[in-house]
Amino acid sequence: MKSFFPKPIFKVDDIISYAELVAAENANVQKGMNFQIKPEYSIFLMSVRKNAPYTDEWDEKTNTLIYEGHDAFSNWVENPKEADQPFTTPNGTLTENGKFFTAAQAYKMKLTEHPHKVKVYEKIKDGIWCYKGFFSLIDAKIIFDGVRNVFKFYLQPVEMKAFNKEIVLPHNRLIPTSVKVEVWARDKGKCVKCGSTENLHFDHDLPFSKGGTSLNAANVRILCMKCNLSKSGKILSIPPIFLS
Ligand SMILES: [Zn+2]
Repeated sequence: MKSFFPKPIFKVDDIISYAELVAAENANVQKGMNFQIKPEYSIFLMSVRKNAPYTDEWDEKTNTLIYEGHDAFSNWVENPKEADQPFTTPNGTLTENGKFFTAAQAYKMKLTEHPHKVKVYEKIKDGIWCYKGFFSLIDAKIIFDGVRNVFKFYLQPVEMKAFNKEIVLPHNRLIPTSVKVEVWARDKGKCVKCGSTENLHFDHDLPFSKGGTSLNAANVRILCMKCNLSKSGKILSIPPIFLS
């Protein structure tokens, strides 16, 4: 069977505005969890809740990013922070929690050959987002957190070569959100080489492939696309101009 996978719009660690995110996805991405926003994938937005620290929760054993489900809406229950996270809406249809949970279970029970794909964007600050890449939804659990039941979704970072052709990436390749927030503040949201504020990217000073860490702000900086290309020795190709 021939299948197509949309070419990634952004590179992992690209820094984008919210408007660029919406334009690129051609969809109004507002909620944290957006099940099957496109036939081929869903979208998770990782935005840090008020007063919560910037921490990505990783399960080292399974190399997974752990994403928490959403609360009930305030017109459903009196106190959403104390109520169990809902599997269904008051009408009985699946919530986003329910849809993602069902997709994860289907994969675990081998009802589907491939895990559901989720694109993840993380918020760096108001209006500033970063593309974190594609993930496979490999598991979901309902966990009692001491107060109530919450959903936990387990996502494995993958590099999509083509549709359903992927390689699993080591989690330490990814730059944690906390490091990005620190680097953004330190570099003042500008390319450290030329000061540009366009086409920015979180760049490893010493590349990950050469042993450079992602986990420490000292090895991460903001570069614009131009400076990033000249750093890696790639030649900037200037598109030929065709005259009609
Ligand atoms: Zn630059």
